[in-house]
Amino acid sequence: MTELRLAHLYPEYLNIYADRGNIAVLATRAAWRGLELAVEAVSVGDELRRDAYDLLYVGGGQDREQALIAPDLAAKGEAIREAVAAGTAALAVCGGYQLLGRFYRDRSGAEQPGAGLFPLHTVAGDRRMIGDCLIESDLVAGERRTVAGFENHAGTTRLDPDARPLGRVLAGFGNDGESGFEGCRLGTAIGTYLHGPLLPRNPWLADWLLERALEHRLGEAPELGELPDDLEREAHLVAAGRARSRGGRF
Ligand code: GLN
Repeated sequence: MTELRLAHLYPEYLNIYADRGNIAVLATRAAWRGLELAVEAVSVGDELRRDAYDLLYVGGGQDREQALIAPDLAAKGEAIREAVAAGTAALAVCGGYQLLGRFYRDRSGAEQPGAGLFPLHTVAGDRRMIGDCLIESDLVAGERRTVAGFENHAGTTRLDPDARPLGRVLAGFGNDGESGFEGCRLGTAIGTYLHGPLLPRNPWLADWLLERALEHRLGEAPELGELPDDLEREAHLVAAGRARSRGGRF
């Protein structure tokens, strides 16, 4: 049985809105294809071996928890950048997404250093951007697919001019409530503000990450078999409907 290795960064600090549910989805969808997902927690003071993982995952968190881990994460920045450059897949949600950029200036004005993977920075404002969110992504070449989730952040993320967003906002705030973009994509790494957890209602995104991880492990991109995602599709439609009912972008 092929084993995929996932490093779960700071699970005891960054895990709000059931973000760890994303790992349960990756593990289950891998198992349904006869694959095993080995999950290893990598936290403060732990070494991150740059060639040991096929997938990196980091969830969201409050400013206080982000401040507790930011210096340690920044020190792991080079290992994270090299791992992703070598094809390791990555999913970073909200607070974790912010800290994979250059820095996050939180509501106290303190600047928390980031890992410097994503070409962006984040500054917390007075407005909290909260609610159901729906975006359209062209992550799968030649296709436009929607991603539905829930956002709750004070951080306003500015992408560098040549940075690639994860998608275009159809309903909700996204990165900054202005640009009309949400998230960031850099090769095999994805950053997003969308909680929920994200992957149960967006199974295609889970499969995209698993394919990248398999490509890293096996050196070739196998086609993952289709799964009967009726429940997942229903969950997506319900979440998308809630976001649309909010009435467009803010
Ligand atoms: N603390 C960050 C912010 O408020 C991230 C919040 C989160 O992860 N939901 O923007």
